Amino acid sequence: MSKRDYYEILEVGKNASAEEIKKAYRKKAIRFHPDKNPGDAKAEEKFKEAAEAYEVLSDPEKRQRYDQFGHAGVGGASQGGGFGGGGMSMDDIFSHFGDIFGGGFGGFSGFGGFSGGGGRRSQRVNKGSNLRVKVKLTLQEIANGVEKKLKVKKYVGCNSCSGTGAADGNSYSSCSTCGGSGQVTRVSNTILGQMQTTSTCPSCQGEGKNITKKCPKCNGEGLIRQEEVISVKIPAGVEEGMQLSVSGKGNAARRGGINGDLIVLIQEERHPDLIRDGHDLIYNLTLGIPDVVLGTPVQIPTIEGKVKVKIEPGTQPGKILRLKGKGLPEVNGYQRGDLLVRVNVYIPDNISREETRAFEKFRESESFTPKSGEGSNIFNRMKSMFDQ
Ligand SMILES: [Zn+2]
Ligand SMILES: [Zn+2]
Repeated sequence: MSKRDYYEILEVGKNASAEEIKKAYRKKAIRFHPDKNPGDAKAEEKFKEAAEAYEVLSDPEKRQRYDQFGHAGVGGASQGGGFGGGGMSMDDIFSHFGDIFGGGFGGFSGFGGFSGGGGRRSQRVNKGSNLRVKVKLTLQEIANGVEKKLKVKKYVGCNSCSGTGAADGNSYSSCSTCGGSGQVTRVSNTILGQMQTTSTCPSCQGEGKNITKKCPKCNGEGLIRQEEVISVKIPAGVEEGMQLSVSGKGNAARRGGINGDLIVLIQEERHPDLIRDGHDLIYNLTLGIPDVVLGTPVQIPTIEGKVKVKIEPGTQPGKILRLKGKGLPEVNGYQRGDLLVRVNVYIPDNISREETRAFEKFRESESFTPKSGEGSNIFNRMKSMFDQ
């Protein structure tokens, strides 16, 4: 379907001012409004078309792009300009009505309630605040996942007034401001005809009733602070700084709203031997000169306990042995990291006369003399870099 020209849709000239465009759109919006044309698909189409045209032409930047490149400059999925080719949703359109018709739009109830998105009454749902706790995990717990019992202090509904805040749960009088409906309605004349605006009653906050005697236990708040133990399942593979959200386990809301969430902040306890690097673990293994020369079996600590690893004769310092799958799992994956064993060599700085003699012998031996191009390679390359 080829799109019509936006100026044509709004019936304005190419040089129309912002004010003229706004006026033209207002005219179209009133004429094709779904509430004035119930069940008329053509009118709805025109209504949307006008909204889209206005969306572009009312924005100087988009209008310039449109003038220059046509629909290609503002539409198209790649542009992500708000309406990916398929036009705007009714919600989008109504959300922009505020600036066109002067705000304070409590939905289109004046027209008999348009249900397609315009009739959203901003009904306040009370939500309790989120609760944040830190939890420290060992590498073992991170590797396997763990269920933690967390002791938290939080607001819960008062049980002696059932969270109402009124003594015995029934000490109320009907609100005189709204007559008990919880809402106040104002009728005003606008260009769309008579408009009814409904808002939450300010004196009872929508309750429709006022408390005559406060609940003594919670002092009318409906909430009390209380310690609770919450069990949280932590999946394997989490990392320092990650946050898990447990829905509905935070603070209770006042007067029967919904609970906030419990946010669990992950912290990592240091392992005495293993260093975490993403999903891999690193272990620094320091061996004596005889062990790397002659080779030796060693015990390597892993998360599941020690494993035996054979160090081959002639192992070079800096060599990394990779123990496959001995690292940490991904949070939502099947992969597991590795354990990297980094070989270091301990060089003593204080040896006996006898040992000195032994090493002097080694110095004369050919096996202990580095061959050119082997081992010293990197060093030589670095040296020549510095010499330049
Ligand atoms: Zn109470
Ligand atoms: Zn009221």
